Amino acid sequence: LAPTPYYYTTPHEARLLLHKRDRFSHKGTFGHALLLVGSYGKIGAAVLASRACLRSGVGLLTVQVPRCGYSVLQTAVPEAMCRPDGHQYVLTGQSEVESPAPAEYSTVGLGPGIGKAPETLTMLRELLPTLKKPVVIDADALNLLAENRELLAELPPNSILTPHPKEFERLTQPWADDYEKLNCLKEFAKRYRVVVVLKGAFTAVATPDGDVHFNSTGNPGLSTGGTGDVLTGVLTALLAQGYDSVEAAVLGVYAHGLAGDHAAEQRGPIGMIASDVIDALRWS
Ligand code: AMP
Ligand code: MG
Repeated sequence: LAPTPYYYTTPHEARLLLHKRDRFSHKGTFGHALLLVGSYGKIGAAVLASRACLRSGVGLLTVQVPRCGYSVLQTAVPEAMCRPDGHQYVLTGQSEVESPAPAEYSTVGLGPGIGKAPETLTMLRELLPTLKKPVVIDADALNLLAENRELLAELPPNSILTPHPKEFERLTQPWADDYEKLNCLKEFAKRYRVVVVLKGAFTAVATPDGDVHFNSTGNPGLSTGGTGDVLTGVLTALLAQGYDSVEAAVLGVYAHGLAGDHAAEQRGPIGMIASDVIDALRWS
């Protein structure tokens, strides 16, 4: 009898996944992540993803934002290095600051706030084939993939995609019920050899092997702008630290939901905002 491919992330499981820090570690031990985030009018997404990434244990963080977000980012997130880029959009390769090519970072997270301008699509087209390690793809980067499906073949294997249901529907097709949705999810993860984090209550993490991990944490207080950007930062930090993609997705989704639960205790589910979720992140 084949084992049932469904799992439920409990506190016990999450604790088993968490890496302990070595006494003799240094920032180089925990990776150097690159985030490609933000556009004119959406620099807040860049700030949220960056702060969440730092609060999730990354060793070093470089953030590529458009020049219009440079001062904002350097002020709001002094712990991060900044690679200013195009004026309104992130345009890889045109940075004014000397820094490594994206492929040289431990991992790359992209999507929050980037928009869907033609320049951004060109960036994605040029960037994806250069990346060899798993990356985190969210938000408008997912929408651009949905509109340019040939790019799906360029995703590094085991990359983590984090769609909410509407974004996932754009990547696949409308479903009639939850059963069909789950099948779509499993098929997509297997077909493209990616980890898909289908967000919402009881977020489902589908693996390239056909397993699905349902999350136990989180609450409707997370239904507010920016919480998805926070998740992208969290997952990018975990990949940078050497978690494999399934571990990173399962643990990251759990910790993000738990932070949401702590934020709801403090502020109540109605008053909490995405920044509260970052402040409530706790890894122990
Ligand atoms: P996004 O739609 O990209 O902003 O992402 C929203 C984030 O909040 C995801 O991590 C969702 O899983 C989470 N979220 C939204 N609504 C709920 C809910 N009702 N219960 C648990 N988590 C939620
Ligand atoms: Mg989102």
